[in-house]
Amino acid sequence: MTVSIHPAVDRGVNHTDVPGFAGGTLTCHCSDNPVVVSVTAQTAHNHVCGCSKCWKPQGATFSQVAVVSKDNVSVEQNNEKLTIIDTNAAIQRHACTSCGVHMYGRIEDTNHPFYGLDFIHTELSPEQGWSAPEFAAFVSSIIESGTPPENMDAIRHRLKELGLEPYDCLSPPLMDAIATHVAKAQTAH
Ligand SMILES: [Zn+2]
Ligand SMILES: [Zn+2]
Repeated sequence: MTVSIHPAVDRGVNHTDVPGFAGGTLTCHCSDNPVVVSVTAQTAHNHVCGCSKCWKPQGATFSQVAVVSKDNVSVEQNNEKLTIIDTNAAIQRHACTSCGVHMYGRIEDTNHPFYGLDFIHTELSPEQGWSAPEFAAFVSSIIESGTPPENMDAIRHRLKELGLEPYDCLSPPLMDAIATHVAKAQTAH
């Protein structure tokens, strides 16, 4: 069985992180008047994500998504084409109404552990040098999008082979960050 994770990693993870890399330009898939977003910093915590809400390119089982400070993200062209997919979700995913590509996901809740970070898909940029994917998040959730449960062993095996440790939530450092935030909020009361 051939397991396709995401086009960016299917032939092996490219460790192209360039020291001093300072971002690039994300463009949606529209051939006319694309939405253009500028990102002026290197990303962090890049990973593949199996949840059903992150944008995936056609045929991919996982999305590839990274975080960057929201202060480094700005829409440069055709902002009027963007709409928020689900205003009730913790991450407000701004998608192009013409091609469906998600340009950035923003957390507006100031009490959220990841407030201040935007979620972006670096594959929308032609620049090389973004941080490479480090792990796989919400792996079990791909079943919700139609992956047969009996394929899960092969998929987890493939993720390990690629050096993308599979987790059914986020990675331990990110789960620790969330728990630390919760602990601090409790002490403050
Ligand atoms: Zn578009
Ligand atoms: Zn996701």
